[in-house]
Amino acid sequence: MVRAAISFREFRMRYHTEAACREELFRQRFPEGFVCPKCGCKEFYAIRSRNICQCRSCRRQTSVTAGTMMHRTHLPWTVWFWAIYLCTTDKRGMSAVQFSRTLGISYDSAWHLSERIRKAMEQRDRHYQRSGIVEMNDYYVGGPSHNGKRGRGKDKVKAVAAISRTEDGIPLFVRMKVVDGFKGKTLQQIADQCFAEHTKVECGGYHSHRSLENAALSYSCYEAGDLHWLHTAISNFKAFLLGTCHGRCVHLQSYMDEFCFRFNRRNTANPLCFRLARAVAASCALLC
Ligand SMILES: [Zn+2]
Repeated sequence: MVRAAISFREFRMRYHTEAACREELFRQRFPEGFVCPKCGCKEFYAIRSRNICQCRSCRRQTSVTAGTMMHRTHLPWTVWFWAIYLCTTDKRGMSAVQFSRTLGISYDSAWHLSERIRKAMEQRDRHYQRSGIVEMNDYYVGGPSHNGKRGRGKDKVKAVAAISRTEDGIPLFVRMKVVDGFKGKTLQQIADQCFAEHTKVECGGYHSHRSLENAALSYSCYEAGDLHWLHTAISNFKAFLLGTCHGRCVHLQSYMDEFCFRFNRRNTANPLCFRLARAVAASCALLC
């Protein structure tokens, strides 16, 4: 179902009660209707006072947030929904400090909230494989090192980015990952995990990339490219990191996950807030 864009005022009015949020969470978690996780029965009793669905057949009780990132949250669902809206409508994202001030919650709660949302984002993108033409390269993240030198210094965090694009050069999906090193084995693991068969990989000319060429037997070819979109995405990510996260490299992977989630859905018809609500409602905290 495609939904129209929605203003924050309208969003807040629509989800201003826990009951309204529960209805939306139910729709997002069970888009095809309720299915008992134990016996598969589709009929249930709603115990609204406890936010529970009880299976008519086996009587198993299932909360709409059980096992998700919202499991046993102490925050009202309305706060979760407003946070989801805020961090999807501003491409710069929201820091924990901004969440704390805007939503009127403690910094610790805001940090917990934003980390959970980012993990749901990562889970949503985890199993999508890049295919077609993919630009891939490694890069460093972080400010000047202690000796003031910029570039590939020892004090920076190592990362790998890959972005798929069409034959016409239109960027599609990006994935970024913090790595321990740039050895061929590490790059190969990322390629195996993130790329579909017959993916055409374009990357920089480092030695580790050349070893990937030999090991990537299932790919059709491997050639150098100008990596234009990859460098654009990396620059945008660094700007996001500097602007919203003040360049902090702690929890860098979760910032990358947030950036990639938003980038990968920049042209979707459905407002991003509803897509993120579904990602959170269908997330699995046990996978973290
Ligand atoms: Zn059942």
